[in-house]
Amino acid sequence: MTTALPETDIDLTRTFAERMDAQDPLRAFRDEFERPTGPDGAPLTYLCGNSLGLLPRAARALVNEELDDWSRHAVEGHLHSRRPWVDYHELFRDLGARLVGARPGEVVMMNSLTVNVHLMMVSFWKPEGRRTKVLMERGAFPSDTYAVHSHVRARGLDPAEHVIEVGPRSGEDLVRESDILDAIREAGDTLALVMIGGVNYATGQAFGIERITAAAHAVGAMAGWDLAHWAGNLPAKLHDWNVDFACWCSYKYLNSGPGAVAGCFVHERHGADVSRPRFAGWWGNDPKTRFRMGPEFVARAGADGWQLSNPPILALAPLLASLRIFDRAGMDALHAKSRSLTAYMRALLAARAPAGCRVITPNTPGTHGAQLSIAFERDARARHAALTAAGVIGDFREPNIIRLAPAPLYNGWMDAWMAVDALCRA
Ligand SMILES: *Cc1c(COP(=O)(O)O)cnc(C)c1O
Repeated sequence: MTTALPETDIDLTRTFAERMDAQDPLRAFRDEFERPTGPDGAPLTYLCGNSLGLLPRAARALVNEELDDWSRHAVEGHLHSRRPWVDYHELFRDLGARLVGARPGEVVMMNSLTVNVHLMMVSFWKPEGRRTKVLMERGAFPSDTYAVHSHVRARGLDPAEHVIEVGPRSGEDLVRESDILDAIREAGDTLALVMIGGVNYATGQAFGIERITAAAHAVGAMAGWDLAHWAGNLPAKLHDWNVDFACWCSYKYLNSGPGAVAGCFVHERHGADVSRPRFAGWWGNDPKTRFRMGPEFVARAGADGWQLSNPPILALAPLLASLRIFDRAGMDALHAKSRSLTAYMRALLAARAPAGCRVITPNTPGTHGAQLSIAFERDARARHAALTAAGVIGDFREPNIIRLAPAPLYNGWMDAWMAVDALCRA
């Protein structure tokens, strides 16, 4: 298994990168993905899996099988296709749980991320008496902020008063975790919910989910997490960390295609409580009584009880293909490679990057995943355009950040080398 190299052992030559790729025990996974090519037909250096992961070859085959079954069986396919559609979401019961360190039944794949955030807010944010407030990061992904603010407004409350935002101190790039913990303690019994992105999309900063969750619980609040940039990037133990709920999308590190079906975790202790308020739909009803078509909703225990609709089979097929790959590789092995690969790219940047740029992603273990966010004093947009023209795909985030994420499933040391080389020339 690959282990993270001590930075002193890193050698900045191209030969070193080639040698590391040749020794990489996860190297074969690279061939399981289709890669975009440039105008000359050569594969691009793709470091944008934090935004949209590459297409797993197996996804094509699984989507085609579902199309064939639809053609062959039509309505009978619900029960008689090779993976009966009526229970299709069950295929993710164990796979999904292993991905995020959950128990079977705590994870369901459904909807999209923002929809799941709304469903979870309905069930887990219960403003009552003094206890009304939601704590989140300032500079959270806008959809999360919109979701939280719209819930607060829907209850006739003012976000300015009921949403606490903790951001970086002035002159700093990152949020200090101790500031989050202090804000939680300070809010005390006015705090109803903490809802933070596990890895910040712009800076790549990862938070201590277990510590922050424990701090929320200590003041009697719930803790929910947006794991859009965590899932498939960092190992998790959502059950043991005692997280109340979590949501993530599947098109970033999880490689399940544009707008892919999202994931949702509900801790067993809440999933068992079928009386917990929720926005209901027939697929969340106990399957034993679902088809009696009666007016009374009886929630199914577990995360499945939050499903609204019968699952979108054609959209779930790529997710199934992708999670089978994650299951074979294992999050721990992927993360070990990721740490080594990202440390290598960081060392290259430190040695070779042009003046006026710096990596803002934190560097201590547990505070980052694959992504490095590079802030430029000027010309970030032009540099990003030049990088793209040189065949390296990263992305640009306002106002001055280029994000590069070597995804351990399909990226290697030469990808990092090529990216930094192109950045130096850009
Ligand atoms: C990518 C991302 C989203 C996107 O939301 P969708 O509902 O999938 O469009 C939301 N929140 C965070 C933190 C993200 O990183």
